Amino acid sequence: MSGRICVTRRWKRAQRSAATLPAVAAPATGLFQGTVYLADLEFTGAGGPWSLAPADLATVQAYLLRAASPVSAYARQYGAAAVTVGNPLPRRSVTVTGGSYADAQLQQWVDAMTQAASLGPNAAILVLNPPGVVNRDAKESGGIGVLGYHGRSSIPYSFVNLLGVGLTVDDAQDVYAEAVSHELAEMTVDPQADSSNPEVCDGCGTNCQGQAAFRSYFDVQGRYVGSSTSFPPSFPYSFFLSAVAKPAVASDCPAPASGCAYAPP
Ligand SMILES: [Zn+2]
Repeated sequence: MSGRICVTRRWKRAQRSAATLPAVAAPATGLFQGTVYLADLEFTGAGGPWSLAPADLATVQAYLLRAASPVSAYARQYGAAAVTVGNPLPRRSVTVTGGSYADAQLQQWVDAMTQAASLGPNAAILVLNPPGVVNRDAKESGGIGVLGYHGRSSIPYSFVNLLGVGLTVDDAQDVYAEAVSHELAEMTVDPQADSSNPEVCDGCGTNCQGQAAFRSYFDVQGRYVGSSTSFPPSFPYSFFLSAVAKPAVASDCPAPASGCAYAPP
């Protein structure tokens, strides 16, 4: 699991997400309070097309509907935050060259989806990259190990590399939920992606050298059942989140167990 990282912090340092495009509304300074929409991109081009199977999209949607409430609860330690989940966006075809694309293109697609669906300023988009096509700014392959990042185009967005197919809500394969919940929580706390708020999952995750990722586990009713750095954990669960660091230790790397293994406040 080491080497699986989120690169948002690095990008923030480079001011990568400093909005180059006009925002839908003047940037707010607070946390995210709005609706997240799952994108359904079909990447076309030589070697393609690549897209998520409808069943996998439905699974991620089901996962998001369960994860939104505890993610919101953890995020509220940092300020007023509320995540709801909208219906997945209509499928959109985009063209890639050589089986890859860059974040600048992804930002254009985010803006196009925002306009096509008439999303307002309180919306965000989650893009999942299917295996086979490559975001050159966030490579998982070749030992680089990027799981995802969040940024801001006209609205906030999160990007996650899917590491497999045949997804399940409990993510027993460990191929999407860690990264989706990590980026969702960090985007919720810092929707402007400008370091006005901390990256709240990095300290409890594998971004920190020698750190095994803490995860928070929930039952089918959404009740917290425990935290663990083992996967799978020694107890039954329905779904899990990447742990969110408590504010007092949010800049610790690694953050101590006491700041990572706890029920939603
Ligand atoms: Zn992160």
